[in-house]
Amino acid sequence: MPDGVVSVAPLRARPTLAIVVPCFNEEAVLHTLLARLARLNEDLLASGRIAEPAEIILVDDGSGDATWEIITSAHLAGPVTGIRLSRNHGHQRALLAGLMQARADVVVSMDADLQDDPDVVADMIDAYRKGAEIVYGVRASRASDSRFKRWTARGYYRLLAMLGTELIPDHADFRLMSRRALAALSGFEETNLFLRGLVREIGFASCTVHYDRTCRTAGESKYSLAKMLALAFEGITSFSVRPLRIIALVGCVIAALAFIMAGYSLFAWAAGKTLSGWTSVVVPMYLLGGLHLIALGVIGEYVGKIYHETKRRPRFILDEVRPSQRKFHEVAA
Ligand code: UDP
Ligand code: MG
Repeated sequence: MPDGVVSVAPLRARPTLAIVVPCFNEEAVLHTLLARLARLNEDLLASGRIAEPAEIILVDDGSGDATWEIITSAHLAGPVTGIRLSRNHGHQRALLAGLMQARADVVVSMDADLQDDPDVVADMIDAYRKGAEIVYGVRASRASDSRFKRWTARGYYRLLAMLGTELIPDHADFRLMSRRALAALSGFEETNLFLRGLVREIGFASCTVHYDRTCRTAGESKYSLAKMLALAFEGITSFSVRPLRIIALVGCVIAALAFIMAGYSLFAWAAGKTLSGWTSVVVPMYLLGGLHLIALGVIGEYVGKIYHETKRRPRFILDEVRPSQRKFHEVAA
């Protein structure tokens, strides 16, 4: 059941729904996904949550396998919009491309591998009808993740909280957003994308629904360690300048220690007790050299971000769009 939205107002009207799925080399799972989403459509229609079938928006993020062929044949067969990006732009940008294409009242984003439980979409729509503009899907357990992923995830959320960025723990990109929330999201024009952080910045009434995240239905994870690390850094540096302040603070502490050491050395020199000290020269030298390099690296990370942002390059380039033949009763501008 959804947590967080308490409303005594009458329910909102049944919304039109779009489901956005970024796909990168997902040929192994797409048929299963499409069958599952067709069943979801039937369930949502039968339970009266939506008035017309959901539009499925599949974004091919520069796949090298049969992903686009499967998407185009699904487009011919049903309410599927196919979007093909010009190359692999990465999960976050592919997702944004799909979200910006959606015209429904509410849009749900999920992964292609069915790790996000489609049945939870019903709860998300209920929460929307009670007034939530954003509904976050939160993993009730991370049992399907490796121990390494669980530990690093927990440490990461703690680190972000220490740096002043409060994310919703165990929420990835499985969420519902209303048209209003999407319009607000389109106002964020940054090139460096970390959607789960950006969506938190929007505000509005929101709530969470919990689900059990299962293992990948088929195929391999498309998030390499390098991609995961890049996303993690994005999350830190896109929302907080605290690392820069920490560097300045460490610098102050070291400078204070250096002053004390200088005073002590002068005193020792005046008393005629000059040290032959090799250690006291070499250890601070390496220590400070290392600290300097770390500091430069952190500052460089932010300068790099500014560099990318100033170019204002497009965040994704569309190669082809095959809009679903179905039209929603209400088409937003
Ligand atoms: N994905 C994408 N572009 C990429 C990498 C991943 O569109 O460059 C998609 C992928 O097809 C899937 C979603 O992002 O729908 C999440 O990827 P995956 O399930 O492999 O990540 P994991 O669950 O292992 O973190
Ligand atoms: Mg996955």
